[in-house]
Amino acid sequence: MKKMICIACPVGCHLLVDDQLHVEGNKCIRGEKYAIEELTHPTRILTTTIKTTSVLTPRLSVKTREPIPKELIFDALHLLEGMIIDKDVKIGDVVIQNILNTGIDLVATKSVTINPFH
Ligand code: SF4
Repeated sequence: MKKMICIACPVGCHLLVDDQLHVEGNKCIRGEKYAIEELTHPTRILTTTIKTTSVLTPRLSVKTREPIPKELIFDALHLLEGMIIDKDVKIGDVVIQNILNTGIDLVATKSVTINPFH
């Protein structure tokens, strides 16, 4: 039996999962889905920031539009570490299309103007 806490909503149900992936303790179907995915193919939404050349906004916050495989999180962070945004970006713009061939885009979660005085 594996013990887990469902993070799909703030209730945080305590789940018990057996070797056959039978889930108990979930108050709704999302808990079962979460437990099975977490044990067979864990994913996470990546949220982070990327350097910019803007004086006023030196970091641009970004996130993946959908969860990506958990094992790719560090590769994605490594990729973004070396990036510098040097053009204006609006909230919701795609910063990287199909990040690490996941089929999922990385999008801006705020806007940045590189040179606000021009
Ligand atoms: S099982 Fe349902 S109610 Fe319980 S934490 Fe998960 S999403 Fe929330």
